[in-house]
Amino acid sequence: MIANWKMHKTVEESRAFARELVRRMSRSAPSTQLIICPTALSLWAVGQELIGSRVMLGGQNLDLGREGAFTGAVSGYLLHEAGAKWVIVGHSERRQYFGESDSLVSQKVAQAWESHLRPIVCVGESLNDYREARTISVITRQIEALFKETSREALRNIIVAYEPIWAIGTGEVPQPSQANDVAALIREILAQKIPDDRDDVPVLYGGSVSSKNIHQFLSQPHIDGALVGGASLHVEEFLKMADIAPYENTNQEQ
Ligand code: PEP
Repeated sequence: MIANWKMHKTVEESRAFARELVRRMSRSAPSTQLIICPTALSLWAVGQELIGSRVMLGGQNLDLGREGAFTGAVSGYLLHEAGAKWVIVGHSERRQYFGESDSLVSQKVAQAWESHLRPIVCVGESLNDYREARTISVITRQIEALFKETSREALRNIIVAYEPIWAIGTGEVPQPSQANDVAALIREILAQKIPDDRDDVPVLYGGSVSSKNIHQFLSQPHIDGALVGGASLHVEEFLKMADIAPYENTNQEQ
C-alpha cells in the first residue's frame, strides 16, 4: 500500500504521523508492504522516524538530471540521498497541471532507476476517455510509451498504479471488476514486452480508496495493492487499510 500525501502536512505533522505509525504498527499484519510518499521537504524527517521499521519512503516526483543550475528542481539522486527508495512518476496531477507528457514520464522512469529509486508509475484515463470507451487505448498508449526511453531492466522493477483520473479525490470509483480488467490489460502489455517477467510487476489500483472500499479492490485477482491519497493522511485510517490488505489480496499468494 502506498500513501501519497501530495502537498499536505508540515514537516512536524509528517514526522508526528510517522512516529505514531511506527509505534502502532506491531498490531498491524506484517506482510503488507507500506510506502509513504511525503512532500520532498518532509522526506528526510519522516525517514528518520521510519528507521528500523518496515515502512519505506518514496518521493512524489523527480526532475531530470543529478545536480545543477535548475532552480526549484529536486533530482532522484537528492531524493535517494534523503532516504527514498521509491518515487511516484507520471501521477495524473503532474500530467495535468505540470504538462508532463508520456515521453517525459518515460525519461523520468529511466532517471529514477539510474538514481537507485524504484519507480511507481501512474497511468489512468480522463472522465471523457472513460465515457467514450477509450480506457483501453489510453492505458495501452501510456504503458507502451514507457518502453521508448526506459530499459527493460528498469521496467522489471516498477510498480504500476492504475488510477482513473475521474476517481482521484472524487469519491467515485470504478466497478472493482472494471479496475481488475484494466490491471489485467497492464499485465498483458508488460508480458508482451518483457516476456520472462509476467507476474513480477505489481499492479495497484488508486482513486478514492478508503478503509470502506479497499477490500473490494484487493480481492480482485489482478490487483496487488492500493495507492491512496486523501485517506492516507489519517493514521487511524491508514492503519485500518494496512490491516485489511494482506487478508483480502489473493493474488500475492498465487
Ligand atoms: C492519488 O493521489 O493518487 C489518489 C489516488 O488520491 P485519492 O485516494 O485521494 O483519490
